[in-house]
Amino acid sequence: MFFDQVTLLLAIGVSSGALCVTLFGAWIGSRRDTFLFDWSAGLGSIVLGVVLISVIGRNYDPVLQAASFTTLLIGFGFIYAGSMQFRLGTTHWVKVWAVTGLGALSTIGAFALGFSGIGTIIANLGIAFLLVLTGWQYWGGRSEAPIAMAASAILYAISAVSFALCGLVIALERQWILTALPTNWAESINSIVVIIGLTGIGALSLSVNQARISRFHRMEALTDPLTKLLNRRALMDRYTAAARPRTAVVLFDLDHFKSINDSYGHAMGDLVLCHFAEILSTRIRISDVAARVGGEEFCVILHNVDRQIAMKFAEHIRAKIEEKAVTTTKGPISVTVSVGVAYSSDRGESFNALLERADQALYKAKTGGRNRVKSATVRLVG
Ligand code: GH3
Ligand code: MG
Ligand code: MG
Repeated sequence: MFFDQVTLLLAIGVSSGALCVTLFGAWIGSRRDTFLFDWSAGLGSIVLGVVLISVIGRNYDPVLQAASFTTLLIGFGFIYAGSMQFRLGTTHWVKVWAVTGLGALSTIGAFALGFSGIGTIIANLGIAFLLVLTGWQYWGGRSEAPIAMAASAILYAISAVSFALCGLVIALERQWILTALPTNWAESINSIVVIIGLTGIGALSLSVNQARISRFHRMEALTDPLTKLLNRRALMDRYTAAARPRTAVVLFDLDHFKSINDSYGHAMGDLVLCHFAEILSTRIRISDVAARVGGEEFCVILHNVDRQIAMKFAEHIRAKIEEKAVTTTKGPISVTVSVGVAYSSDRGESFNALLERADQALYKAKTGGRNRVKSATVRLVG
């Protein structure tokens, strides 16, 4: 082999140690993501296991070897736990410790009975099994980031095979008792696979996590935190081009909302806003869009509808909110809404122009006495 065992162990130790520190730093910045801590703890334990192996050196010591395998098993157990958390949002610790504990106890048992070779076989197979379980988690979560997750799963599978081979070679050679660290082709392949596997998986996991964080921030930036509807920015991002024919913009503004806040308090006002958002979101089709575009202003975009259907929808919502007072801890709160409807002309009108016409119709509804639906005048100029 081009590299000797000590060099390879050093490489594993250094790359795992660097990854351990990186993941720990990432966890400090995002404490809720406990999988970062689990992975970091796992790698820390693996580094310790590697250090113990290198201490063994020329004078084989079964106690040190058993200790090394135990820390390695615990390390891979933590990595399995972290992957479960990463994918499912929760860790079944019983499952993790059942597999890890069984592997570690039977390894220690075999070493204690003097069968260091059998102990080594068990430890390698135990680690391989933990790696298969971890890879399985990634494989199951590949819908989130198909290439990165599938690549991680494959790297785990290859690592698992390389550990299993280490155990298998000793078994085939019937080395039930070892007097030196095993040195064979499987061990050399295993060291290289572990270096590539751990660093590759580390980089892939961090990139999937980063993509997850930016997706979350993007969603947060486009969602109204109170009602969970889209916000104005999301609506504007979505409708940059000309409005399609048969599109209706329905603009709602709750009537005398300021006096609701004044009479019942801001918290009850918030409750009314949520109640109204709920009415909207449960009454639109999946292809329609509802957004909160201002304090007590909401907008619904109906796609592929007739003008009459759009007017009927607006009237239905107006009647619905008027029909039943909102139940709150400070008693029932009656609320009404004014609505303006604009229907797209087939001349490629811009979405903004459509919104403007809906706003003018809403103004007519307000000045006309509130609690009513008004439709915008048809735009005659192209
Ligand atoms: P109009 O019938 O003319 O629409 O009267 P209005 O009182 O509804 O309209 P105005 O624009 O005068 O007041 C809107 C109020 O909405 C004022 C503001 O305090 C309140 N508001 C805006 N955002 C929120 C919010 O997030 N929560 C609560 N509770 N109130 C809000
Ligand atoms: Mg308003
Ligand atoms: Mg209002």
